[in-house]
Amino acid sequence: MQTKILIVLIVLIGLGVGGFFAWKNLSSPEDEKEKETQEELAEEQTEEQPEVPYIEVTDNEIKIIGTHTYMFFDKTELMQVAGTSKWPDSSETYINRAQERIEYFDKAYLYLQDLLDYTPFSGEKIGAKIFDAMGGGYGGGKTIGVGNYPYEDMDLDLQTYFHEMSHSFTHSCPQIYAFTEGRALFAGYYINLRLSQENSDFLFFRDHQRRTFVGELELYESYGSPFEDVYWDKSAGELHSSSIVAGMYIRIAERYGWENVSKLRKLSGADMSDDTKNAWDQMTLANFLVYQWRSVGDEKIVDMFLEWNFPLHIDSDEDGISDGEEIRAGNNPFIKG
Ligand SMILES: [Zn+2]
Repeated sequence: MQTKILIVLIVLIGLGVGGFFAWKNLSSPEDEKEKETQEELAEEQTEEQPEVPYIEVTDNEIKIIGTHTYMFFDKTELMQVAGTSKWPDSSETYINRAQERIEYFDKAYLYLQDLLDYTPFSGEKIGAKIFDAMGGGYGGGKTIGVGNYPYEDMDLDLQTYFHEMSHSFTHSCPQIYAFTEGRALFAGYYINLRLSQENSDFLFFRDHQRRTFVGELELYESYGSPFEDVYWDKSAGELHSSSIVAGMYIRIAERYGWENVSKLRKLSGADMSDDTKNAWDQMTLANFLVYQWRSVGDEKIVDMFLEWNFPLHIDSDEDGISDGEEIRAGNNPFIKG
């Protein structure tokens, strides 16, 4: 259990991605020879698996294709990791394990669709590229990166897939780390909540994540909800801002109903340009979120954010137009002049 807790906690967006691509681009001294070998191996692999139609093998990739998602390995990377010019023996194990996981990856996709009433990328499949970097990952796009080959313990490494796919459904808040991460943490928790109803293996993750996120929120509240003291734009300090945000979403869902968070994607300013959002400060963001929430959810939720000491204003420049409407129109009432 100790190991599980540790690894669950080190799921990070973007970790080591730069290094990863730099490493990937290193060219092999035996390009020609390796290419032939790869082609032979691709043929062999196809011949070995003719009765499994959801595995697709090309020169460079092996894809395990599910209904809504797929997982893939870059063959060159696998060979580099194994330190061999041949298709390493261990890859068959990884591929078998990935096949076991695709069912859960597909389910997670459906649960997120349910929660958020949203189908990203017009229903095109979301892919998980699996690479060798313990615990890290990146998400938000049609292809997510999962920084570890499948372990023996399936329900453990699935947590990375769930988290990174959640980013592809929840949209990011530029420069406001806590909201980008907090929403993905919350969505990942929701997947475990649903999975635990049919498979007791996921009870541990459901309970551990709820305890962590609600626990951080309660700690924040125990200090008198010191909004100004929290690093909302990074993962630092005594209070973990993304966990607090995830705890807030759980609190709202449990107290006022899941329908209040079912439209949470709309609260991200997904329909506004990145240029506009990049210019936001925390106060603008907080006001915009609550304005949006008020338009789709229960009015009492606004009171919760006030109790959490969010710096909310209805009409800060007193021009008769609510801040939320002005922000939506691309104006920032907090910047005068
Ligand atoms: Zn993340």
